[in-house]
Amino acid sequence: MFAIKRKKMGENEFLSLVGRVNSAKKVERHEWVSLLASLTGEQRELLAARAREAAHANFGNGVFVRGLVEISSYCKNNCYYCGLRCANKAASRYRLSKEEILECCREGASLGFNTFVLQGGEDPLQNDAFIADVVASIHSEFPSKAITLSVGERSRAAYDAFRKAGATRYLLRHETRSVEHYSHLHPSAMSADNRRACLFALRELGYQVGSGFMVGSPGQTIEHLVDDILFLEELQPHMIGIGPFIPATGTPFENSPAGSAEQTLLLLSLLRLRFPKALIPATTALSTLLADGVERGVLAGANVVMPNLSPRAVRSKYSIYNNKKSSGSESAQQLEQLGLRLQAIGYRVDYGRGDYPSLG
Ligand code: SAH
Ligand code: SF4
Repeated sequence: MFAIKRKKMGENEFLSLVGRVNSAKKVERHEWVSLLASLTGEQRELLAARAREAAHANFGNGVFVRGLVEISSYCKNNCYYCGLRCANKAASRYRLSKEEILECCREGASLGFNTFVLQGGEDPLQNDAFIADVVASIHSEFPSKAITLSVGERSRAAYDAFRKAGATRYLLRHETRSVEHYSHLHPSAMSADNRRACLFALRELGYQVGSGFMVGSPGQTIEHLVDDILFLEELQPHMIGIGPFIPATGTPFENSPAGSAEQTLLLLSLLRLRFPKALIPATTALSTLLADGVERGVLAGANVVMPNLSPRAVRSKYSIYNNKKSSGSESAQQLEQLGLRLQAIGYRVDYGRGDYPSLG
């Protein structure tokens, strides 16, 4: 799909377009298409170099770490791409208790993390009251640490309660802006409009909001990716998470090909240039496809890594896609290894909270 041959851009045209991407000026739809579909290897490298400069100007050579606690593998939703979908009877299910989540945070604190990310399926037993209570307890034990939630679509009142309990950030990928593509990826009980409404509600409630999408999800076209970028322009998120789609056994897309790591890296660079201050992770999905995913992601403009802080016994059960990595650079207990890998490419681990710069 990404091999469509289009007219190559000349050098001057390319450089002026890159300058525009890295500014508040308008970039036309057809220009995004060209950037996504017709760059030479050399132009991709130049783009990555510019993206690194943009990241450096805002964050120096630091890469923020967030401790990721996967709080439940139960989910009431049935997204067609995800291994945790409720119809996947073969999925291993677990849910962490409040005390287990707090234990993970305590371990994270002792390892030096200043941000915790609580992520999970939409588990009916981890209801709004449970999440608010967990957040309040983490906040009272660790008042200076940032609490990020990623527990799906909830009501505005629930988001408000989580915020009041002490959560300051929320990750909810829009997945795809196209209504048609959204319905290719999700059952009719879920809608692109509700995702969108959730994201804007989170923004209004004062969260630092993260959105994003999978690269190479089934049925995705270049036009869809352009729509995704345009949606991010409208939302102006503080954090942007993108990673390649990876097939998951037990889903309708289990035999679909994985997304392209190269296309993911290109998008990372474009997003870094367009949203220079955004917190953009080198995702676990990228590291699942590429052994040097952290390095490649950072060198493409990413500035966050989210090592896994879940109890070791459950890590393999949070199987949103096949072979999901949770060791090495993806393990909270191996920060030293992450540090060495970053050092080898001229970067370092930044243990700070890593808020969006203008809020800092
Ligand atoms: N339930 C929450 C959080 C857990 S899923 C939610 O959906 O927001 C977190 C992210 O994993 C999703 O946003 C999706 O983009 C990603 N994901 C799910 N299945 C995937 C797959 N097969 N390949 C790559 N990423 C996937
Ligand atoms: Fe549930 Fe999230 Fe997976 Fe969808 S992507 S099935 S909401 S865990």
